[in-house]
Amino acid sequence: MATGIVDLPQFTWRPLPVKQPAIVPSMMIAHTAVSSASSLYAYFNGPSAGVEAHCYIRADGTAEQYVGAEMQADANGGANRWFDSRAGVWRGAFSCESWDNGNPATPWTQAQINTLADVAHWLHDRYGVPLTLCSTPTSPGVGWHAMWPAPNPWSPGNHTCPGSVRIAQFRNQLMPLIERRSVGRIMAVTPSLTEIENYVAKSYQAAGNTDARGQRYWVRTAGAASDPFVVFAEMDHALGLA
Ligand SMILES: [Zn+2]
Repeated sequence: MATGIVDLPQFTWRPLPVKQPAIVPSMMIAHTAVSSASSLYAYFNGPSAGVEAHCYIRADGTAEQYVGAEMQADANGGANRWFDSRAGVWRGAFSCESWDNGNPATPWTQAQINTLADVAHWLHDRYGVPLTLCSTPTSPGVGWHAMWPAPNPWSPGNHTCPGSVRIAQFRNQLMPLIERRSVGRIMAVTPSLTEIENYVAKSYQAAGNTDARGQRYWVRTAGAASDPFVVFAEMDHALGLA
């Protein structure tokens, strides 16, 4: 039984007959397919010569998954699989191809953006993938194929995928959606914002500061914008406490 089958309602499992090394899914990387096809199964099962993405998201937001999330796929250069020596595990990116009607200047539909946000949260829930942009090419999080300047470690050919239109959408539509959905979860799955604020205020004062108000404001801003556990660590770091 394959592992890492995305069990979102809009997903269909269509496994490719590939055997590749195991990974701990640690990123979501978005691509554009330059394709009007409704499926990339046939392409990945031959003509692509061993290159494949984990999934393909159609215009209507429905998706096919070709490789389990815990197995390497080969769409992201150096992010396909890398060794995290600190954690002692092989990490890898979960790659999302997307329909663009054969033209990467076609914006993602809202349904595609919704599915990308769903996948990011699915990866977060199952594997702890942070709901923040990757800060380095080997830092867990979310991003897009051409995220880094040449020589791009995720794109040996240094191509521009998913294109400037979709990169702008990633920043201006997808990330805010991912973050808005996180906000509702802060109260459900993590310490409440008040608890976080109290912790930071205490820590801030313990570090010799007397005015916690500025820090509280900072916390609220950051807490509304990303994974609270990540924010928590960042706060400690910003305060010089960790
Ligand atoms: Zn790509």
